[in-house]
Amino acid sequence: MKEVLAANLECEVLVIGAGVAGLTAAIQAAEAGARVTVIAKGPVARDGAASWMAGPGFQVALYEPDSPEVHARDTIKVGQYLNNQALVLALTNEIPRCLERLDRWGMHYLKSEGKYVQIRLPGETYPRVPRLLRPGLAAGLEYRRVLPRQIRRRGVRALGNLQAIELLKRDGAVIGVLALNTVDGVFVAIRARATVLATGGFMGMYRYTTTSPTLTGEGHGMAYQAGVQFRDIEFADFYTGSVIWPPLYAGEVDWLTLLRYELGGKVYNSRGEDFARYKKSSGLALPVIFEQEIKAGRCSPHGGLYLSFKHLPENVIDDYFESIGRQRWMRNLEDIGIDIHRDALELAPAPMESIGGCRVDERGRTNVPGLLAAGEISGGAEGAFTLAGNPVPLYMAMGSIAGQEAASVAREMGATPDELPDVRPALEAAVRPLGNDSKGAIPALQVKRELQHILRAHLRLLGRTQAGLESAVQKIVAIRENVERWQVKTTARRHNNEWMEALEARHMVTVCEMLARAALARTESRGLHFREDYPAPSNDWLCNLIIERDGDEMKIGKAPISYSFIRPGER
Ligand SMILES: Cc1cc2nc3c(=O)[nH]c(=O)nc-3n(C[C@H](O)[C@H](O)[C@H](O)COP(=O)(O)OP(=O)(O)OC[C@H]3O[C@@H](n4cnc5c(N)ncnc54)[C@H](O)[C@@H]3O)c2cc1C
Repeated sequence: MKEVLAANLECEVLVIGAGVAGLTAAIQAAEAGARVTVIAKGPVARDGAASWMAGPGFQVALYEPDSPEVHARDTIKVGQYLNNQALVLALTNEIPRCLERLDRWGMHYLKSEGKYVQIRLPGETYPRVPRLLRPGLAAGLEYRRVLPRQIRRRGVRALGNLQAIELLKRDGAVIGVLALNTVDGVFVAIRARATVLATGGFMGMYRYTTTSPTLTGEGHGMAYQAGVQFRDIEFADFYTGSVIWPPLYAGEVDWLTLLRYELGGKVYNSRGEDFARYKKSSGLALPVIFEQEIKAGRCSPHGGLYLSFKHLPENVIDDYFESIGRQRWMRNLEDIGIDIHRDALELAPAPMESIGGCRVDERGRTNVPGLLAAGEISGGAEGAFTLAGNPVPLYMAMGSIAGQEAASVAREMGATPDELPDVRPALEAAVRPLGNDSKGAIPALQVKRELQHILRAHLRLLGRTQAGLESAVQKIVAIRENVERWQVKTTARRHNNEWMEALEARHMVTVCEMLARAALARTESRGLHFREDYPAPSNDWLCNLIIERDGDEMKIGKAPISYSFIRPGER
């Protein structure tokens, strides 16, 4: 049967992805006068965006002696000088405007004498995180409350349940997207003068993760196929401690963070040692130290470390709880018999945020005409590592800048391309696995699990070695070469989750290969890229790794860093 398009839509600016970066890009492009369409894989603002899971961290430099320059300097120091410095400065200057808009649109912050009350997170020169009126409130739910209203007010067309599968290209430029409507199982093309890719990160590829399992790097895969350059892909953020026990709370991070940092919890190994304190002098990042302790077997029977508050007088804990108000998770803990005056919680590091991504300039433009990228899918803002509470503001600012830029690209272009490129090969490739019962067919879900095994064995915090990564690359290439044999057993097109996962997995293969090749190439340890065979940082590696497609090959090379604002070691 010949595949056909159910719809061929048109707009001026297309935004793919509807988290904080995508929605902010859509709002700003519409403010600048563009006709905007935003699409998301799930229902808009009720999908698996990482943004809706974010805790209260939101770094913004507001009052002297703090400034966007000091904020940029902190960001670059933590990024170990691998950041795109011009981009960082553009973003830290934009962030105060983002906060001002959130406030105007109805987020509630604690203020004293008209000023935001700000708290300090590790790595900040000055306290920089505005306190929400109700501490402990997950800020992600607040972003989700205020941002969708603003796109509706500006007449942005928001289409949910559209899984982007391939970027459309004509004469070397991106002119829109081909997407699957996952409810009805039909294909839709959307043409645009400028496209902003805001599909978030790829940490959902890992089997056990703090983020949404739907965030598997499809945008990365599509951009790679379209010729976009990538940078810093080997770096990612593994959160120091997410709950692993009790199981009801597995993966939770927000209230745990609150307790650890605000109440001052201590982390012990199974021998009762406060090991992190004495191991800090090793210079290794905390999640690596935690993972080493677990690997050495000095952990709980569930493979976790113990977060305890027993060193605090009972009334200190009670007063703190009273100050943050009664929260749902507190009752849940009581229900399952955990009393934190006495009992420890069990935690372990878990994947959280991808740091590298599409190489963009300070206006969010990629190297491919017509295509911009904003948010966790982009690389350059964070360098090798990130400050707690920095991703959301950096990505929101990036959405803001890229949205304005996309509107101006659209204006310059004058008209939306009225003809589609030939989409038949893409449609045929997308439906090929459906009901494929040919001899030697490989279930696509099995492939996905294999990729997850490779990630777990060789691309977690520990386990990165020359031999391991070489074998990972080999296995991933073999998987890629068999993609035509993939099989989706369920043949129905409507609500076919197996098919959705198979389409995700096609791009996962590309992302895993980029990750493995970059981790193999960088023969040093920096940020949370920890090479067991090269455990120290090296000045020879003060450079970025750039990956791009060269025909059927994946090309990887080094690029020098421009120290336009601050040099390594400068104060
Ligand atoms: C548990 C947790 C807590 C965090 N806490 C904080 C914090 O306190 N402070 C902080 O600064 N950062 C925090 N972060 C990080 C931060 O939340 C993310 O980095 C940030 O929200 C990413 O925003 P984004 O808009 O780029 O991507 P996302 O919010 O992930 O949005 C991606 C969008 O793209 C869509 N999409 C994906 N693939 C497709 C496709 N194929 N077709 C169509 N649409 C697609 C998704 O449906 C979604 O709408 C946290 C992350 C996690 C996981």
